[in-house]
Amino acid sequence: MTDITCRHSGISSDDPPTEAAFLYVANLYAEGKLYCVSDGSFNPSLGRGSQAWIMTDERQQHSMTGAGPADGNPSTMSAYRPELQGLLASVLVLRSMNAAYDIPTGAAVTLVCDNEAATVELDKIVSDPLHAIDPLQTDYDILLELQGEITNSTSTFIIKWIKGHQEDKVPLDQLDFLALLNIDCDRRAKAFLRLNTNETLQPPVILHHEKWGAVANGHKITANLRETIYELYTFSATKTYLCKKFAWEPTVLSTVAWEGLNNAKATLKSPRNTFTSKIMYDKLPVAERLHFFNSSESPLCKTCNKAVETQQHLFQCREHNCRRHRLHCWIKHSKVFLIQGHTARLIMDAIDGNVRHYLKLPPRPTKWQTSQGNRSVVAAVQRAIVAQHALGWDRFLSGIISKKWGVAQRLYQEISGDYPKRRPRTWAEGIIKSLWDFNHDVWLYRNAIKHGVTQEEQSRARRARVVALVNDRYLHRPHLDPKYKFLYNKPLHKRLEEGNRTLYAWLSSVANLSSLSTKPATRQQSIDMHATFTRLSDTQMGRLRRPMRRLRRLSDQTPAKSGAPLKSKFALGQSSPSETRLLTGMWNFATASPPTPLIKSKARKKVFHNSIRSKQAKLLWDRGRTARMMN
Ligand SMILES: [Zn+2]
Repeated sequence: MTDITCRHSGISSDDPPTEAAFLYVANLYAEGKLYCVSDGSFNPSLGRGSQAWIMTDERQQHSMTGAGPADGNPSTMSAYRPELQGLLASVLVLRSMNAAYDIPTGAAVTLVCDNEAATVELDKIVSDPLHAIDPLQTDYDILLELQGEITNSTSTFIIKWIKGHQEDKVPLDQLDFLALLNIDCDRRAKAFLRLNTNETLQPPVILHHEKWGAVANGHKITANLRETIYELYTFSATKTYLCKKFAWEPTVLSTVAWEGLNNAKATLKSPRNTFTSKIMYDKLPVAERLHFFNSSESPLCKTCNKAVETQQHLFQCREHNCRRHRLHCWIKHSKVFLIQGHTARLIMDAIDGNVRHYLKLPPRPTKWQTSQGNRSVVAAVQRAIVAQHALGWDRFLSGIISKKWGVAQRLYQEISGDYPKRRPRTWAEGIIKSLWDFNHDVWLYRNAIKHGVTQEEQSRARRARVVALVNDRYLHRPHLDPKYKFLYNKPLHKRLEEGNRTLYAWLSSVANLSSLSTKPATRQQSIDMHATFTRLSDTQMGRLRRPMRRLRRLSDQTPAKSGAPLKSKFALGQSSPSETRLLTGMWNFATASPPTPLIKSKARKKVFHNSIRSKQAKLLWDRGRTARMMN
């Protein structure tokens, strides 16, 4: 980057610019008639860029030209960066001319460029000396350098945008000189790139006005700063997690078509996006998982009522209707990526056979590809199958597919020329999306069976759930303080005549009150107080700190020295609960007003025993004795 200025040799003639050219350009500069046209070129497959510039005026008696590489990370290089570097190169050349020749202060220079984003950004820099460039912007480093050079310079800069590639529509002799210069720059930049493709990349340099930069893996981070740093930060942990979770070899990780996955995920809206994440990481709320968190849920599959419903079982359930539905869905969605994605029939056969095997479905009666396929495509498909075996076919269904599928598809498309009309960003994106649609259909079917489709079915299921819970509470009665025994006054069949809401209120009362083992300070007044959750004052709630109670009880069991008085009321010393310990905090209630601080109990009235053995009396007696002895 920094060596651009010393690279400026005219591409057309290898000689350095003559003294006459220098003087001519310097004169133009001093008179304020100088035009600096620059352009960048970018090769996406190489990730390399180059820039070229020219300094002259309309008459073009002499000119100064230059071309050079555009350095940067090949994976984040864009057409924008070379454009900026071209502009920077011309600004740097102007600075050295300013130092060498007698250029008056405020001499105007017109910077011409065909990139709209670059001109807009440069306009802001030129018009506002205090303009703050957003540090998250792409190619922030070069923009900062440009800003630094422009603010340090004594010249005035005029930014001009010109339409690029005008020669495509208008004949050359009708174009104005700036358009011609732009075309010339474009050609020289392309030529430079062609000649220097094998040149090794320069190590990253922190620029003068940039002051600091982040360098990772030998490249400066110039785009997507946050994402790149986040990725670098989480990469190793993610890698270990995935390898452990899916029992993958670490080398397998790089064979996944992450790009297609990323593109497909980005197009999804929020609820479906969450669903696909759950699918991908085996985190669907299937019965087994629900049972793990809540033992009152059945772990069984509701379709077959035989096996435990894991995420795998969801796709392998043997129940007749379930299988039929799955087959129907698979045919529907595989047709989508055959037709819309213009997928090779050889690939379709490979995917179809293996996925059907995983889904426990019968194989397809006739193959998609009936004739003998192209040999190299067949070989590519074989490689893809092997790679997918290493990843797993259950992963394939969840959208984690091998890169090799894309390779095979590209090969097929190059040979047959069978391209879809609107090409997606990647072929994998389309296939992954229809796989997710398939997953979602299977999930919907399972939900319909489990929760019912009509409102009546759903309400019946809800009722069955609450009835089961109440039954369970009657079967296994929790411990209740005698004064809460009235909760069980009604026999079970009477209780079950109540509505869902009442039953849930009853269940929560039982759950809450069964935890109390001592009486609260005030008497329970009426049953109505239960329905509202205000039945206990904050003081009393403070007393219900269950973990603390348990600890206190434990500490009481330690053999205390007889007669040694307890230092504080509680062995653990804490006598007022912290806010989070209050029941409201535990239950996450939204209280209208925060709990009031505890009221300290009044000091007990001193009670004197009338016997001489009482401690107080002994103390009195002793005090009297000392007084006597002093006499
Ligand atoms: Zn089942």
